[in-house]
Amino acid sequence: MLKVLDSAVPVACWSCSVAHNESILFCPHCSKIQPPPGGDYFSVFGLAPRLDLDLGMLEHEFHRLSRKLHPDRFARALPNEKDWSLADTALLNDAYRTLRDPIRRTGYLLKLQGAEMGEEHSGKDRKDPSRVPADLLEEVFELNMQLEEMRMARKMGQTDPDLQADLTAAKKKFDGLLDAVDQDLRGQWKVWDEGDEAARQSAQKTMVALLDRRRYLSNLVRDVTETLGA
Ligand SMILES: [Zn+2]
Repeated sequence: MLKVLDSAVPVACWSCSVAHNESILFCPHCSKIQPPPGGDYFSVFGLAPRLDLDLGMLEHEFHRLSRKLHPDRFARALPNEKDWSLADTALLNDAYRTLRDPIRRTGYLLKLQGAEMGEEHSGKDRKDPSRVPADLLEEVFELNMQLEEMRMARKMGQTDPDLQADLTAAKKKFDGLLDAVDQDLRGQWKVWDEGDEAARQSAQKTMVALLDRRRYLSNLVRDVTETLGA
């Protein structure tokens, strides 16, 4: 077995011994399947890390590689090659799932760059005022009261059309705030993709904060949706 090397270190193909970039799934010289590469998800697709991706190209490449890795093609291959076709397929699927989703892609790239990411907020944390985005303190306080009231009413088998309307309006508002965060994120993608090192550092910081805010807002929207739909 070859040992997994750091990204960008050339490795020798196990079959033909010609050195190649270790992030690829197939040897460019003899076309033989290679063990799962140790690079990042972008390099699986032959890409440098970036945020604004051509999703059509990504999908096309995913299907092309999936077909090449299909276990049926390795029915008569060596046991190692059979194992790699499964392991490479799992890696390709993970890479595609992560990169095609704009939010997951952004979070993944930030982690790759060593950014400290916020933690998942539990329901309890959300009521901790220090976790609430400062500009939303009052609204979140109000919303939590309304959610509590709604749950109580439900428990008693009551309906409260006014409260229902308030919560529906609140959901719409927070949905709008989520859209605004996504717009801001896309703006930062451009800065990160095209900027110099200083611009990238600053974009990273902004994106970490935006993802944190996004997570908070998504949890709120989910809470309201659940309470309304209960
Ligand atoms: Zn080879």
